[in-house]
Amino acid sequence: MSSEFIDYGLWRWRRGLPGDIRSRVRASFRVKYPVRFSGDGGSLIVDADKPINMGTFTEFLKMLGSVEGTDGSYIVRGKFGEAEVRVGQGGNKVLISSTSKELRVHIAGFVARASICGECNLCVNWCPTKALRRVGSGGPSFIVDESKCINCLLCSKACPSAQYLVYRRPEIRGGGLSLLPY
Ligand code: SF4
Ligand code: SF4
Repeated sequence: MSSEFIDYGLWRWRRGLPGDIRSRVRASFRVKYPVRFSGDGGSLIVDADKPINMGTFTEFLKMLGSVEGTDGSYIVRGKFGEAEVRVGQGGNKVLISSTSKELRVHIAGFVARASICGECNLCVNWCPTKALRRVGSGGPSFIVDESKCINCLLCSKACPSAQYLVYRRPEIRGGGLSLLPY
């Protein structure tokens, strides 16, 4: 178990996730996983059944380091490596190209969070530096204060949506894509 799961008490829901997210997702989307993966060794395509909030997605990318680019095409560089990120027309498909498996999975987690958000605020509450804030009147609308963000990604690790839809998926944990970062 990673140290932050112990330090921040995330061990409490190592097996179960808060809010019974599986049932809520199934009731809303009528499928088990409304986020799908494809790709090969250097790329991961993430396809969500709900459009991504692009403002929030680009804010989330800041948690990985520097971000260059606009209009759905970005280069991200930071402690996890470098990635090219392209959002497809329609706003619910993202192509992530990177030699870093860990980085590809973290960005897939952002896709999940920026499209299928349960508005539970766990991410905001777990952020140790108060760098993450919700804005607007609902839905996945967040901003990240780069001057405060320490790139720890505790917000994604605490997020039931990212955990259920990405990090704990069988194909991520050891199946065909074998991308589990932890
Ligand atoms: S939890 Fe960590 S990565 Fe997420 S916004 Fe806060 S400081 Fe940044
Ligand atoms: S923890 Fe995840 S589901 Fe909850 S508000 Fe944050 S992004 Fe949305």
